[in-house]
Amino acid sequence: MSNPKNITILGATGTIGINTLDVIARHPEKYRAYALTANTRFEQMLEQCRRFKPRYAVMLAASAAERLHAALNKEGLKTEVLSGMEALEFVSALPEVDAVMAAIVGAAGLKPSLAAAQAGKRVLLANKETLVMSGSLFMDAVHRHGAMLLPIDSEHNAIFQCLPRDFNGGFDRHGVTRILLTASGGPFRKLTLDELAHVTPAQALRHPNWVMGPKITIDSATLMNKGLEVIEAHWLFGAKPEQIEVVIHPQSVVHSMVQYSDGSVLAELGNPDMRTPIAHALAWPDRIESGVAPLDMFAAARLDFERPDLTRFPCLRLAFDALSLEGTAPAVLNAANEIAVQAFLDGQIGFTDIPKLLETVLVDVGTVPVTCLDDVIFADSRARQAAQQWLDRSSA
Ligand code: NAD
Ligand code: MG
Repeated sequence: MSNPKNITILGATGTIGINTLDVIARHPEKYRAYALTANTRFEQMLEQCRRFKPRYAVMLAASAAERLHAALNKEGLKTEVLSGMEALEFVSALPEVDAVMAAIVGAAGLKPSLAAAQAGKRVLLANKETLVMSGSLFMDAVHRHGAMLLPIDSEHNAIFQCLPRDFNGGFDRHGVTRILLTASGGPFRKLTLDELAHVTPAQALRHPNWVMGPKITIDSATLMNKGLEVIEAHWLFGAKPEQIEVVIHPQSVVHSMVQYSDGSVLAELGNPDMRTPIAHALAWPDRIESGVAPLDMFAAARLDFERPDLTRFPCLRLAFDALSLEGTAPAVLNAANEIAVQAFLDGQIGFTDIPKLLETVLVDVGTVPVTCLDDVIFADSRARQAAQQWLDRSSA
């Protein structure tokens, strides 16, 4: 039997990270948690080190890394502790690492995800912000360095499964006409604009179907998550904006669909549990058990589909706008959105202020072509500044 594959998990203490460790723990003969990384959650990382005994553990902050090192030392655990962004890139590119789960939230995930692609790894990409910010550079790195890119986002994983095995982005050649990207619609699907203005962070954090980190949960409530996913689908599958249709499907059983020229529509269905795409991407082209309960069609009983309402949920329209603007516009939108979501969670702005902030920043910062990573990073920081100015003005 061959040795277990070494897996680096970027963002091991997050929702996706924990689900990845759950799948890995079911197959110790196949996979080994080789490097685990986290931002600040020291206790949780210590617990993961005790259980999985990784070769490396990375904490972003040096102080957290020192604490972890001392605690591991005391227990006689041999895990080597590192810190900083360079360490995240280091554990993504190690020669002995077979696959990297890129599951850091937000723009912070960009550099280590890119490092994994540049090292030619099997990249299991959950961090959609990487593609939104730097889609052309990232896809270029994947192709140039022979990396294998497998989408973890449930919709994109579903689309990947519904496309032909040899799909290379040529819609016409493969008879693909459209991608039908499903969205649950979030907790506020039925609210009026007036009601939306008064929803609280606590209400927005209660997603009807999926358990996720706070940032993506708010994005799901505004439909910005779907907007980011439209941009993600563009880069992953070479889909033009008009070839992507967003379909509201409140049950989250159909995870997305691909429409073909002969009238066929292929869909991937299952219970809403991220361990399915994680297991799929770890094992592809094989299949492994994931711990997800089999779908009970009689319990699901019905599947509904609706058109999204761009008046009540303008974030989705803004994402299409940013995609059409090209260049750094999606990176600007993403950065402004990170600031807006945090401000909403902090009670600084209302729910319906989020798209207002985004629209202003997108217009004010504008777009320039992306020629290198610095263009993206510069646009990201300008957008954060502009978003902060918007917040300062609105609270003055
Ligand atoms: P989360 O908030 O639960 O976890 C985020 C992880 O990133 C944590 O381990 C945290 O320590 C780490 N992290 C945060 N900021 C960091 C920083 N500055 N530097 C280094 N590490 C940092 O988030 P999540 O729900 O697991 O989502 C992770 C990514 O996966 C996001 O990009 C999200 O859009 C994507 N995703 C998540 C789901 C889901 O079901 N949770 C589904 C699809 C896509
Ligand atoms: Mg998704």
